[in-house]
Amino acid sequence: MSDNKNVRVRFAPSPTGMLHIGGARTAIYNWAFARACEGDFILRIEDTDPERSTEENTQIILRAMRWLGLDWDEGPEVGGAVGPYFQTERTESYAAALETLKERGAAYPCFCTKEELDAKRAKAEAQSGGYAGYDGTCRDIDAAEAQARIKAGEMHVWRLRVPKDHPPITFTDAVYGEMSFPADVMDDLILVRSDGTPTYNFAVVCDDANMGITHVIRGDDHLSNTPRQILIYEALGFDVPTFAHLPMILGPDGKKLSKRHGATNVEEYRDRGYLPEAMVNFLALLGWSLDGETTIISEEELCRTFSLERINKKDSVFDEEKLNWMNGVYIRSLDEDAWLVRATPWLAEAHARALEAPLGATICPAPSEDEVAHRLCGEGVDEEEWQGLLAHVSDEADWYRCVYPLIIERLVRFDEIPDKLAYLFWKGNVVLDEKSVNKVLKKEGARADEALAICREVLSDPKIAWECEALQEECRARGDAAEIKPRNLFQPLRVAVCGNMVSPPLFESIELLDREDVLARIDATVKAVF
Ligand code: GLU
Repeated sequence: MSDNKNVRVRFAPSPTGMLHIGGARTAIYNWAFARACEGDFILRIEDTDPERSTEENTQIILRAMRWLGLDWDEGPEVGGAVGPYFQTERTESYAAALETLKERGAAYPCFCTKEELDAKRAKAEAQSGGYAGYDGTCRDIDAAEAQARIKAGEMHVWRLRVPKDHPPITFTDAVYGEMSFPADVMDDLILVRSDGTPTYNFAVVCDDANMGITHVIRGDDHLSNTPRQILIYEALGFDVPTFAHLPMILGPDGKKLSKRHGATNVEEYRDRGYLPEAMVNFLALLGWSLDGETTIISEEELCRTFSLERINKKDSVFDEEKLNWMNGVYIRSLDEDAWLVRATPWLAEAHARALEAPLGATICPAPSEDEVAHRLCGEGVDEEEWQGLLAHVSDEADWYRCVYPLIIERLVRFDEIPDKLAYLFWKGNVVLDEKSVNKVLKKEGARADEALAICREVLSDPKIAWECEALQEECRARGDAAEIKPRNLFQPLRVAVCGNMVSPPLFESIELLDREDVLARIDATVKAVF
């Protein structure tokens, strides 16, 4: 991208909450654009709201950015030449900018009280024209008088003196194209509040200018701020950067994506077993496309090909089905070792849940969606036990690697692992799905008890290799001899060993378990059911 030399972009979250889906997409676009242009990606924390900004939220945002793999060249924890990167630490630069504006006569003190302003607004709203913004009461107060009132300690804010004859404010948005806003409807916006803190519009312009930001890429909820910010750039004599406003992300019902639609916090997606690379791919394509066709794009390719030109003007719809599909694609692209690294906490959680199974065989109705999905890895066990379960995965890595082929083809999210694979850790106990018991073990005329007896005999015979094909063939042969169809032979065994009718492959699972374990499950099932 030779026409984008020395690009400097920034992601500027306010730490008033978590990193949400829309913010993450904005961060990804800035990051990918910086990488594509070989420019700099800056992270700036806009923590000027003292009531809602917290250090904890800052840490959550940084953690979520790292999880997504969005590395920043300048910002918190990495530093940089134009820091600090927290707005609360940049107050001197705002004071200096205000001084410049005062010297130029481009800012003036306003002594109107909140009550006065509220009353004016209420009156104007009751009239036909409506409220047209601040009426300029203090704009023409004589400089000496203003000075005296400030000296006397009168409360005041500082406003921008918007030139009366200013032509329409125009700019070329990299997404929306030519934009024009009449300047005469811009009232004299507040730059500095009565407590001395800068407003968002003032701080953001000072920072973007002082940090040498060349492109401001942000959500289109800020579009109406842009003409105001341009007025501040002009008053300060700074170059106006290129703006790119990103269309909204909508829920499936066409309304702006919000909590009503499900998770909006990025870390919830981590906790639900999405891979960060799938999230980045998915969010990157939520409003941008490489060629209108490509659905799977690696980070490397994204960072090579991202351009502002291909950002969509239309709002995009967050389609969770598509995200699930994409996550499955990314999971299946992992080899055994990479899978094991990612799956470790989920496998440990499967183990933890299995340890909660009551002794012997228990018949239970299947848990509802809510019951399965919302327990975090390690949540139900104490720290020491949890560390032990994690260590078990690394100590027995060879065994765990054998689990990979059992599950990889059908896995959509990692949070399915605890429920799907707990049976591998039952150790002689078994949690029987009630529906499977009724449909398979208690099925009239299916001779499930005989089927289990036949399989038990094979599985207890030390002369038969403990190997899935040998065991399966021998069971099948003896089932044939007893005139029990393979389905009626294997389904009862599946329920007795894995707990339900839809488990991962049966004999491959049996091979991974100990003989005593499998026999104990069959015995417990027979005792509980027949
Ligand atoms: N702190 C602002 C926000 O979180 C950033 C606005 C901007 O990018 O200019 O919405």
